[in-house]
Amino acid sequence: MNVDFKKLLSVPGIKASKPDYSSAGYNDILIECYNYRGMLFVPPGMIIDLMNKILPEHYSGLKQVVYEPQLYNPFPKNSKEYKIGGKFFRADKSINIGMVINENELKSTFYHEMGHLIHVTGNSGIKLSEWLAISGSSQGYVSEYAKSSAFEDFAESYSTYLIAPDKLRTVSEKKYQFIHALFRGYHEDTNTIIHKGWIG
Ligand SMILES: [Zn+2]
Repeated sequence: MNVDFKKLLSVPGIKASKPDYSSAGYNDILIECYNYRGMLFVPPGMIIDLMNKILPEHYSGLKQVVYEPQLYNPFPKNSKEYKIGGKFFRADKSINIGMVINENELKSTFYHEMGHLIHVTGNSGIKLSEWLAISGSSQGYVSEYAKSSAFEDFAESYSTYLIAPDKLRTVSEKKYQFIHALFRGYHEDTNTIIHKGWIG
């Protein structure tokens, strides 16, 4: 992905004259992180830590992760245009993370976009027709955003499973069991790094 710095730097509110940049390769996935003054610094290692907490088969096919806080959030926090979030690019299997204000937001955004990767690629043997049935007949959602489509529901539920599994379970036992099965019994809480060493 090419970042047009000139365009970026013409965005109002930007503080750095030129952002710091660092990158890392991980399991053939390119991780690029841009750092702007005044924003949460997310080094590639922080993203790798999050990846180590899920099964490698879940991110199979992922090409790139970009943390680019200014790109998607050029607006002041109190403006109505201000949004926090990420984006999954289906065509090039790439996750872009916009501005996050703390590590929890980084986690929920990254895992949300990971959820999109999984339903798009069919990773971990996800049975989409089953999910569509569960989501379609659902009364319980982990967030308002999850109600916007079955796929947003999946992304939100996947992320919640990793961050607050009890919450997902309370909202919907069926959704919890569906996602739990994708982890083939390997799930533990995300404070524990369970898969380091498997990645080869
Ligand atoms: Zn989404």
